[in-house]
Amino acid sequence: MGQVSVAGKVDSSSKLSAPQKGLLKLGLRRDIDLALHLPLRYEDETRITDLSQAREGDLVQIEGVVTSCEVSFRPRRQLLVSLSDGGVSCILRFFNFYPSQQKSLAVGNRIRARGELRGGLLGWTMMHPQTRAATGALPKSLTPVYPTVAALPQAYLRKAVLSGLAKADLEETIAPEVSSALQPIPLWTLRDALNFLHHPSPDVSLCELEDHTHPAWQRLKAEELLAQQLSQLLSRREREHLHAPKLSETEDGLLYQGLLKRLPFQLTAAQKRVVEEIVRNLAQPQPMHRLLQGDVGSGKTVVAALAAARCMDAGWQCALMAPTEILAEQHFRKLIAWLEPLGVQIAWLTGSQKKKERAEMLAMIASGGAGLVVGTHAVIQEQVQFRKLALAIIDEQHRFGVAQRLALRSKTQEGDLEPHMLMMTATPIPRTLAMSYYADLDVSTIDELPPGRSPIVTKVVSEQRRAEVIERIRAQLMQGRQVYWVCPLIEESEALDLANATQTHAQLSAALNQADDSRISNDNAPAVMVGLLHSRMPVAEKKSVMASFASGEMGVLVSTTVIEVGVDVPNATLMVIEHAERFGLSQLHQLRGRVGRGAGASACVLLYATGEAPRLSQTARDRLRAMAQTNDGFEIARRDLDIRGPGDFLGSRQSGEALLRFADLNADSTLLAWAQKAAPIMLDRYPDEATRHLHRWLGGRTDFLKA
Ligand code: ADP
Ligand code: MG
Repeated sequence: MGQVSVAGKVDSSSKLSAPQKGLLKLGLRRDIDLALHLPLRYEDETRITDLSQAREGDLVQIEGVVTSCEVSFRPRRQLLVSLSDGGVSCILRFFNFYPSQQKSLAVGNRIRARGELRGGLLGWTMMHPQTRAATGALPKSLTPVYPTVAALPQAYLRKAVLSGLAKADLEETIAPEVSSALQPIPLWTLRDALNFLHHPSPDVSLCELEDHTHPAWQRLKAEELLAQQLSQLLSRREREHLHAPKLSETEDGLLYQGLLKRLPFQLTAAQKRVVEEIVRNLAQPQPMHRLLQGDVGSGKTVVAALAAARCMDAGWQCALMAPTEILAEQHFRKLIAWLEPLGVQIAWLTGSQKKKERAEMLAMIASGGAGLVVGTHAVIQEQVQFRKLALAIIDEQHRFGVAQRLALRSKTQEGDLEPHMLMMTATPIPRTLAMSYYADLDVSTIDELPPGRSPIVTKVVSEQRRAEVIERIRAQLMQGRQVYWVCPLIEESEALDLANATQTHAQLSAALNQADDSRISNDNAPAVMVGLLHSRMPVAEKKSVMASFASGEMGVLVSTTVIEVGVDVPNATLMVIEHAERFGLSQLHQLRGRVGRGAGASACVLLYATGEAPRLSQTARDRLRAMAQTNDGFEIARRDLDIRGPGDFLGSRQSGEALLRFADLNADSTLLAWAQKAAPIMLDRYPDEATRHLHRWLGGRTDFLKA
């Protein structure tokens, strides 16, 4: 249905012409894709300006006869063409030109030229105008200029779009009842909107076209948002037809109650509330898909543990996955401490495991002996067979790709039962994103930190004051506290990073262990242990470094960003982030969350480099300022979204390419609210139209949206 000529040949893409490959590169396969490929801007070729009426600086199109055409060499090689429109003449100047161009600009030819008019003592000139033979009538609409790629010329693309527009199915899918609900903006039809946007009449307000407020744009954005809401609602409703094990409260509630009793602290009110939301959800016969968001340090792990306990009490298995081995291991240790005394067997799975150990673990999982499985991506690999998996918990979910979540879901067993899913994130989702991209999930929010935490004081400090910072570290160590020192990861050059981290490590070891330093009064003062952790290290070594930091034996941990998420050492009270200007905002916030986890007052020092080019950029400055101003993860997330835009923010959730192309969540909140209301009406009363609408906008990508 409605394929462009290239589409049929996708498999033998080597035989495609360069422009055809260009179309594919832009994702333009179907007619509708072409029809939805909208111009970047427009050129006005509908009018001819009389040179006698022209003003300097005008962007105009003129028409006339070539009276001379010659190559001049002064001051440098250039083609000079003189064009006369009857009364006045204009010099066209080209510094780069082809012989073919010279030919089309031969004396006597009648041509049109478009460009900016400059006035000079010698009359009008145009630099590098666009020229064409003056044949045929003037176009009646503005000429579209499309986003393109190398080897795909505008002319080819224009033709393809035109043909796509003519052939695509543009029948209305939005029922009048639904579209009229969008007061006070009346919706154009899709056909009118697209025809207009590809070929607007010259009297249009360019301003409205550019800032996408024109009614034609409104229609497109409404369409797009509706498609997004439909797909999310659809996956939500499909979930209602799926079955999951009911994990209800059991009479003895051995593990759940036992764990609550064993905890060395009281749950916060927010933790109690989210646990309540989760366990209520788990007791339903439909799979839960819930996002648990809570700032770093808000105590998500214990919530996960309680959910796992409820699952095991009901006689089922639970899996917990984390994006890095270090983080997974932290969870593993904590869960062992909490649950093993209650008789739970916990299996451990990672990629770096020895074969024999792995085989043992797999057997334990398959037999159901392990009630809980903790690990990295290894947990979702094919060979892993659960006996009775009922709950999958994914920590720092934004790190996991959609495909991985699909794989986890497909670990079905026991007939047609699906596992419940709990995704945890420390990056809170701003409201507009929650309403759009995450509309298929239920959300629980931990909005308070455990009591007794003093807020982390953040200082932005120039690299030149490094010596003072080292003094500060010494002071913390004297109080028996521990310190993180984080070095940035420069993606282009891992080697450089390593060098940087290694150098810092050496420098700190030396500075903190100066035996002759008068500040250490005791002659045989214990040496300060300074550790180094980076991603290239063998796993065993990483583990032993982490273990010695966690035990308190190591005072300072110099690390690249491997410690970014989830590491929990409450005695660490100072974090220094070197080259803080290179980090993203939410990354800085995540890192900072590694301190301030115990009762001790904590601080974070953001060291920035000075003097070197490039100087601190404005956005880097904004980020550092935001960090110094607030500890609130929601506020940070909001500012981060402002700085980066949703594409970056969403990260891997976007592997389904469901990113909005036209709508802007901030500017189009009215349309978003409409789409949210319209989607259920469409699905209930106009299911066929809804299906066509989804197909139009998402084509074959709808599967991904169900993850
Ligand atoms: P995150 O939400 O960042 O994953 P964690 O689950 O690692 O946070 O918890 C951070 C620290 O707070 C841990 O040391 C944890 O044991 C502790 N903690 C969690 N809940 C409470 C509570 N209600 N009272 C006191 N400490 C708590
Ligand atoms: Mg955590």
